[in-house]
Amino acid sequence: MKEKVMLTGVRPSGNLTLGNYLGAIKNFVDRQDAYNSYIFIADLHAITSPQNPQKLKEAVYNCVAMYLACGIYPSKTIVFKQSDVLEHGTLGFIMTFQTKMGELSRMTQFKYKSLAQSKAGVDTGLFVYPTLMVADILLYNTSIVPVGKDQQQHMELTRDLAERFNKRYGNTFLLPDVYIAPVGNKILNLQNPLEKMNKSDNGDNKGTIFLMDDVEIAKKKIMSAKTDSIARVHFDEENQPGISNLMSILSKITGESFESIENRYKGKGYGEFKREVAEVVGNLLKEIQARYEKFNDKKLLDKILYDGACKAQIVASETLKRATKALGLN
Ligand code: ATP
Ligand code: MG
Repeated sequence: MKEKVMLTGVRPSGNLTLGNYLGAIKNFVDRQDAYNSYIFIADLHAITSPQNPQKLKEAVYNCVAMYLACGIYPSKTIVFKQSDVLEHGTLGFIMTFQTKMGELSRMTQFKYKSLAQSKAGVDTGLFVYPTLMVADILLYNTSIVPVGKDQQQHMELTRDLAERFNKRYGNTFLLPDVYIAPVGNKILNLQNPLEKMNKSDNGDNKGTIFLMDDVEIAKKKIMSAKTDSIARVHFDEENQPGISNLMSILSKITGESFESIENRYKGKGYGEFKREVAEVVGNLLKEIQARYEKFNDKKLLDKILYDGACKAQIVASETLKRATKALGLN
């Protein structure tokens, strides 16, 4: 029997991107057989910023269908919607009270995202959502959480809060490991390779590859990705962030090392290199999109989410009971 638990989740705050796939979902899919696996749709995290309710419902279905299209099997992995398992909210509330204001203020995601909101006032959700994430992870006695590099700090907070709670109230939570893959952990915006690719990116989205993008449009986005004038296919994130980003994308999809890519492109121009990346990304999207059509069936998705929530709730309620008992609440 598989004993260790793996868990991850994505906010249904827009269409999934190549960054979400390479940074989180692919790492999960590749390990799905080795762990007791849980993947969830983080809809409570989505409402930490205002959402259109109808669009949110659709985004949840899109997200589940996309998980399946990316290779997640409900026969191997428990797939569920966060808000269906009420324990997330309760443990999130409890974990918020184990946290210092300073700890949450130091989160770089908060600092960065609150800048964009500061005129209209910063949402409290943006401030406290890391403690909900702590609860998401601890509820399932999780050992590994495949996430992108942007989530590293939140993972460290998870370990800190679990440890603090265990010390104060007795051993209650398992401390998870941070798993951040060495390649593809921060896919950058193709037009601004100093910024992460985000699914909630606004504007014309020329720098963001969505998994549902028309394949020809996605290829064009790669061909017009910002590079540099050094004219050498070489992995150097500081001086050649655009080229290094394309190398990460290629290497993460095909498994080829940076060294081998550099050797193949010695003395060759960026045009040829970009064509190969565009081809590889185009083929990946074609495969994913063909599978997506098969799974885009609300009845099927509702059944998967119902079954998943029933299974997840059993484990989550046991953990919550342990925590409330430790606190003297029951
Ligand atoms: P949003 O703009 O709504 O925050 P997002 O693209 O950052 O969207 P999240 O739902 O916040 O997506 O994150 C889902 C998972 O995808 C997390 O594990 C996160 O670390 C990972 N991830 C997100 N963007 C990237 C990226 N550009 N490169 C690698 N991993 C990423
Ligand atoms: Mg994000």
